[in-house]
Amino acid sequence: MEAATFKNYIAGAWVPARSGAVMEVRNPATGEVLGLVPKSGAEDVDAAVSAAARAYDAWRRTPAPRRAEILFRVAERLVQRKEELARLMTQEMGKVLAETRGDVQEAIDMAYFIAGEGRRLHGYTAPSEMPHKAAYCVRAPLGIVGVITPWNFPMAIPSWKILPALVCGNTVVFKPASYTPLLGLRFVEIFAEAGLPAGVLNIVTGPGGAAGDALVEHPQVRLISFTGSTETGLRLAEKCARGGKRISLEMGGKNAAIVMPDADLGLATDALIWSAFGTSGQRCTACSRIIVHRDTAKDLTDRLVARAERLRLGDGLLPATEVGPVVSESQLERVHGYVEVGTREGARLLVGGQRVRDGDLARGAFYAPTIFDRVAPQMRIAQEEIFGPVTDLIEADSFEDALTVLNNTRYGLSASIFTRDINAAMRAVEEIDTGIVYVNHGTIGAEVHLPFGGTKFTGNGHREGGVQVLDVFSEWKAVYVDFSGRLQRAQIDRE
Ligand code: NDP
Repeated sequence: MEAATFKNYIAGAWVPARSGAVMEVRNPATGEVLGLVPKSGAEDVDAAVSAAARAYDAWRRTPAPRRAEILFRVAERLVQRKEELARLMTQEMGKVLAETRGDVQEAIDMAYFIAGEGRRLHGYTAPSEMPHKAAYCVRAPLGIVGVITPWNFPMAIPSWKILPALVCGNTVVFKPASYTPLLGLRFVEIFAEAGLPAGVLNIVTGPGGAAGDALVEHPQVRLISFTGSTETGLRLAEKCARGGKRISLEMGGKNAAIVMPDADLGLATDALIWSAFGTSGQRCTACSRIIVHRDTAKDLTDRLVARAERLRLGDGLLPATEVGPVVSESQLERVHGYVEVGTREGARLLVGGQRVRDGDLARGAFYAPTIFDRVAPQMRIAQEEIFGPVTDLIEADSFEDALTVLNNTRYGLSASIFTRDINAAMRAVEEIDTGIVYVNHGTIGAEVHLPFGGTKFTGNGHREGGVQVLDVFSEWKAVYVDFSGRLQRAQIDRE
């Protein structure tokens, strides 16, 4: 059967790339071609930015509660189409259906949450230092926002960016990851169905180096919101600095969980298997370091290995599957490269460490859930983001030692501790240098109404989720209204 061909959405119309070029989208579990999407370049991006510029004035003048009504309708359309979207997502990037349903649900949660913010978008009033003078501040939109997203959460991550950008009154050009353009196109289609005016949200699919780069370089784009690798994010930040643009970055993680001897090891095992191997380890919050107290290392290791060995790999659409493929052949090679590095560095491979080709799995990019022990904190596998089904066991002599190891990375996204000692738990919360900390829970599972993001090289100080996300997508405007009828000079007229 011939693969379907999809189009960009620019100024309210579905259009091909100006060059006519297309690129293939493949199912990583089967290798099947799912569709062809535009391979857009700078001229398509320019058309999309022009459409966003034309739509901007009318959209920013639309009262925020009215903008939000459209976002409520987006939430409702997402609810209606959840199953269809989840199934397509499993086909497009591989994770199992329970997880792709969760991905769509996160977009639904975000749409309801952000639509509610349309009736708040609070500023505040403050007393002026002068008589007969009002002082307050309000949020104002920035203008045109460029959204660049990865493939691991094809709907949730775009929703964290596009929904708050729109409720704040910005217009948007969206470039999804090239592994997951179909979900990006569906997402935009839903905004169109919900009645979003033409040009307010546009999508161009295409390679990062061409379409993404053109978006970042475009002089009319005021803000780039990016999630992806630290290397790409930092390169884009340099370009944005030169162009005088704001950029919000959500980048890598090297997330860790501490397991103390008094922990509930059954719970810790369940949570760590889920955190390490859910989404085949391809989450920015995936647990890739397990820092276990020496006294409990053997017990925990035995439990984790027994569970990892039994995880069922397969096509994520099949109900029995627990772990899907990784997103592509090149990602699989990258993951395996790290496993070879770990072995060379002297870590001990306990389970996994290889591609799986049994039966139908031969058609896809399947990698066995992998655990190393005897990992030293400075090894590359303990410092670099692997982004696959690989986790490390690192032994610690004490609670303090475990904290030192946990904080000793360039990243700072998510962390957790398993203990029944409330003092240890609260001290860990205080001492851990990450944007997200869990107690008696794995490293994954953020909720949309709390701030999401990290310290150090994970980000650049911004947060997504929570009301904090509104600070990314708005400017503060301070307003002074002097009704004294005379000149009053701040800081000078003090009598
Ligand atoms: P990238 O950071 O390269 O890609 C993320 C997004 O940026 C994609 O939409 C990509 O487009 C786009 N992009 C790439 N280059 C440019 C550019 N020059 N200008 C503008 N946009 C660009 O990540 P990859 O998908 O290549 O994954 C590589 C590694 O990154 C993974 O193995 C993992 O370690 C890490 N990663 C981390 C994520 C996280 O959430 N922490 C998410 C995804 C990846 P395109 O898809 O067309 O290349």
